[in-house]
This record gives sequence, C-alpha cells and structure tokens, in this order.
Amino acid sequence: MMGVNGQMVSTIAIDGPAASGKSTLAKKLASKLGYLYFDTGVMYRAVTLAALRHGVPVGAEEAVSEIAQKLDLDVRPPSVKDGRQYDVIMDGEDVTWEIRSPEVDRNVSQVSMYAGVRDAMTKLQREIGARGAVVMVGRDIGTVVLPDADLKIYLDASVEARARRRFEECVSRGESPEYEDILEGMRKRDRIDSTRELAPLRPASDAIIINNTSLSVEQALEEVLELIVSREDPV
Ligand code: C5P
Repeated sequence: MMGVNGQMVSTIAIDGPAASGKSTLAKKLASKLGYLYFDTGVMYRAVTLAALRHGVPVGAEEAVSEIAQKLDLDVRPPSVKDGRQYDVIMDGEDVTWEIRSPEVDRNVSQVSMYAGVRDAMTKLQREIGARGAVVMVGRDIGTVVLPDADLKIYLDASVEARARRRFEECVSRGESPEYEDILEGMRKRDRIDSTRELAPLRPASDAIIINNTSLSVEQALEEVLELIVSREDPV
C-alpha cells in the first residue's frame, strides 16, 4: 500500500536503548526524506519533570498518571540555536534542557512503567503516526505504538560506547559529569526499560537490528537509506 507522497515507506519506527544514536540517526533520516522527526522520549521525560516539580513522588502511580493525562505538552521546531533539535514546551514554558537533567534521567524509567502514563502517551503518538511521513523514535514504537510501521529499525550499541557518548554530550554542554556514574545510571535504566511488564524495550520480530558501536552516523544512515530503497524498489 502506498503511503503519503506516493512513498511506500511512510512510517519509520526507530527503537533502541539510551544513547544508541537513535535521535541523531532519526533526525538526519527525517530531514533527508522531508518527514517529521518525533522523539517520544521527551514525552516521558516531561511527565517526570512535571511530577518532580509538583513534589509528587515518582512512586505514586496514580498521581503520576493523573499528571500525564493532564500534561500540556508541545514539541515545536527549534527557536534557539543552542544545539537543540526542537523546543519542548510544557505548560507554556520552555523545558527543552531541563528534561535532560540527571534528576529526570534517574527517575524517568520508573514513571514510564505505569499503564496510565503509557496509555496517555501512546494515544498521542499514534495520532501523530497516523498522519504518516514520520520517523518516530523510542523504545516500543515498532512493538506497540506503530506495529504496522513500514520500516522498523532497532539501533543498538555497547553500554560502554553509549555511556561514553552521553558523557561527551554532557561535557560539550559545559557540565562535568563522572563517566562511571553515567555508565551505572545507563545500566540501571536499560534494566528497568527492558524488564518492565508493559511495552518493554525489545526489537520487534520484523525489526532490522543495526549495531552501531563501530559505525559512524553517516554509515548507519547509509544502511537505513539502502533498506528504504530496497523496499520501495524491490528487484
Ligand atoms: O529516549 P530517552 O532516553 O529520552 O527516553 C527516556 C526514557 O523514557 C526511557 O529510558 C524510557 O524509560 C522512556 N521511554 C519509553 N518509551 C518510549 C520512549 C521513552 O518508555 N517510547
């Protein structure tokens, strides 16, 4: 079946663990195809930030779910040139960088376990997916959110390589993190994300797995573009 713009590959799901390079790859892919780039992680991060700000303990499932259902969240094209890929606006306030804080990092996986939170976020994500021409990034896009996506990629890399990338990102923003802390936090987040009951992190059975531990962004992009060409023009 043809997607929008006559393209056969109209919805693209990219899943994988933290800092596997999903966002960078997806952003480049979306801009090459003229598609919308949508990073679903920002939604779970915004719910977490809202809970922390309201002083709601992240263990309080009902209260956190209520926050998720009421959240006024908007993701728009970037308005500031500070390395951001989009603006994240929560209740009218720019929280683009705040949702990347270590405190949000530490708590987001717990918030993401709750059915009330996931239901609210999944619904919004499906509405965006239904419009097509989208590259959607997350943990459960190929398995739960868009099980009929035209192309599913699962991007992986060793936990050490991912922690190193995250460390360098923090340093380039002028922060002074400890590599060991980042590595440990990432292991913990991977564990919670992949063992949770609802929508755990795992490749869909029809996902193409790309391990980019020793691939450049350009090489990974090239692989995905070749996959798209082979699907649109099967020999
Ligand atoms: O991708 P990012 O690291 O920003 O995601 C933050 C957290 O949000 C993940 O560790 C995971 O707990 C949650 N998440 C999720 N499902 C998604 C996207 C993110 O559970 N589709």
